[in-house]
Amino acid sequence: MKPVIAVMPLWDDDRQSLWMLPGYLDGIAEAGGTGVMLPLITDSDAVAQLISLCDGVLLTGGHDVSPSLYGQEPFDGLETCPARDRMDATALRLALREDKPVLGICRGIQLMNAALGGTLWQDLPTQHPSDVNHHMAPPYDRVAHEVRILPGTPLHQLLGQDFLCVNSYHHQAVRDVAPGLVPMAVSTDGLVEAVYAPDQRFCWGVQWHPEFSFRTDASSRAIFRAFVDACR
Ligand code: MN
Repeated sequence: MKPVIAVMPLWDDDRQSLWMLPGYLDGIAEAGGTGVMLPLITDSDAVAQLISLCDGVLLTGGHDVSPSLYGQEPFDGLETCPARDRMDATALRLALREDKPVLGICRGIQLMNAALGGTLWQDLPTQHPSDVNHHMAPPYDRVAHEVRILPGTPLHQLLGQDFLCVNSYHHQAVRDVAPGLVPMAVSTDGLVEAVYAPDQRFCWGVQWHPEFSFRTDASSRAIFRAFVDACR
């Protein structure tokens, strides 16, 4: 039996429609699991039932995280999806309570950090200007910048290297790391780009996009495989 992984749905505001990037599902499948995109629902009992049917949770990318999650007023121009914030936070809380593996990608690491009590840079270009390109142009299966992988972390154990070249497509990022999360990777301009929860069996977040690069990048495949293996 392959592990079944709940994949948080993406929401298209213009079309008022759910959508999905195939890379999330394909990356899980390549690692030996089956991803299932959930409906966009906020009823916590319904979310709980769906999470109970799955072996792990993938917090996908997408909208900006609402700053209300960490008690701040939103910058002009943020594009949020309150329904996803509620659903993702509920799914995360349930998964952690049941010690089910969680992987957060891009918005996923941000949501994870905010939901667990940390804060975010709401808009990197204005709040954290730097020469590092965090907002690359497509195609996204290329290197945008480097991160340093912190020794002693599970990511360092997995990859066995001190530096990693990653893609990058984000304008928010982890600012104050949440209690219960520990940094695993830091960009050269000081952004926390990967975290994990030491108290959990597997709760990782990465700021880069293995779903765009797993076909050509072994480290992206290794991250999906570590997640799916933890779901078995
Ligand atoms: Mn980046």
